[in-house]
Amino acid sequence: MQPRANHISWDECFMRMARVIAERSKDPSTQAGAVVADRNNVVVGLGYNGFPRGVEAESFTWNREGSFLDTKYAYVCHAEENAVYNANNSTQDCKIYCTLFPCNECAKTLIQNGIREIVFESDKYHDVDAFVASRRLFDAAGVAYRQYISDWAESSLPSAAPITFTQPSV
Ligand SMILES: [Zn+2]
Repeated sequence: MQPRANHISWDECFMRMARVIAERSKDPSTQAGAVVADRNNVVVGLGYNGFPRGVEAESFTWNREGSFLDTKYAYVCHAEENAVYNANNSTQDCKIYCTLFPCNECAKTLIQNGIREIVFESDKYHDVDAFVASRRLFDAAGVAYRQYISDWAESSLPSAAPITFTQPSV
């Protein structure tokens, strides 16, 4: 017998995993997911956007507008940083799959934790300052980034719902 020909690629596998873990998010407006994998394609960490460990989903608002203290932005950890915080092994020289291009705060965390490649799906905030800054950081630090759009993005699966993201008020 020949090996199965229609297996999915690692890119497809990890981006689907990022979409699946995003479904854990309790954020009513943004569900982001991230998967850290090493150079042997072993998963090292998973993350989604949410409040820090031990903080109940009802403890703070999920509002996107208002004064800083009255929005979620003061309290939410992003998927990318959570994937690093949740790592069960060193993230040195790893790659990360993100449903959204990382913001500048996550970019700093990823660089400082040795992530060497960013694979992102949505780049919808390409021209927003926080994302211009993250590209500058990745370029300056020699971190590669490339887009990969999952087959699921074109399908009718529930997890292919449009990804929404609101620029953090920085
Ligand atoms: Zn971020």
